Amino acid sequence: TEMIVTIDGPSGSGKSTAARTLATRLGLEYLDTGAMYRAVAWSLHRAKIDPADEAAVAQHLSHFHLEMHGNSVCINEEPIPDSELRSPENSLASSAAARFPHIRRFLISLQQQIAKGRRMICEGRDQGTVVFPKAQVKIFLTASPEARAERRWQELKQKGNPIGFEQVLANQIDRDTRDSSQNDGRLIPAENAIVLDTTGMPLEAVLDRISQEIQR
Ligand code: C5P
Repeated sequence: TEMIVTIDGPSGSGKSTAARTLATRLGLEYLDTGAMYRAVAWSLHRAKIDPADEAAVAQHLSHFHLEMHGNSVCINEEPIPDSELRSPENSLASSAAARFPHIRRFLISLQQQIAKGRRMICEGRDQGTVVFPKAQVKIFLTASPEARAERRWQELKQKGNPIGFEQVLANQIDRDTRDSSQNDGRLIPAENAIVLDTTGMPLEAVLDRISQEIQR
């Protein structure tokens, strides 16, 4: 039987790590919807299509076969290197592309198709509010801007992407502003979501808290 857990929140709130780890521990599947926006932005950029050009985007997306394996992504059978998908440039491009309703509609419907009949943790910005309003468990993670930028910075460093902390913070503020100034159900907790501030919280404590909710 279908079971959907949504984990929403801003970048660096710890939602990716939490979603991925819990999916493995609890034997659920995992959908990284941010990776889907990243894939669309990456592909539009490569095809030199302006995300604002609705007709050109529609044409492009009609030949766009996206396959998700956890948080790795294939477009028309071609794997997209994680370093390109998650580069600072593509982070900003994906946040810019995500503002367009014609792009959101496409990915929202794809997310609903993917999750149908599955037992899945769906992670993003609008999963509990817009994509899966009937999800069994809804989690909304937050953290202070500094704590979030710190996490992102550590992550990028580990992946061998040397970048200054100041730049990560500036980039994050940019994206936060864009991601939350839209009236599209992003970055607001669903009414029945459990809101968890993870500032200074060890990962295991976050995982325990969410597991409790899922296993209730
Ligand atoms: O989560 P991640 O940082 O990988 O997401 C990349 C971008 O995709 C975000 O900045 C946001 O603009 C967009 N996004 C979205 N809705 C989602 C997931 C991501 O608009 N459900």
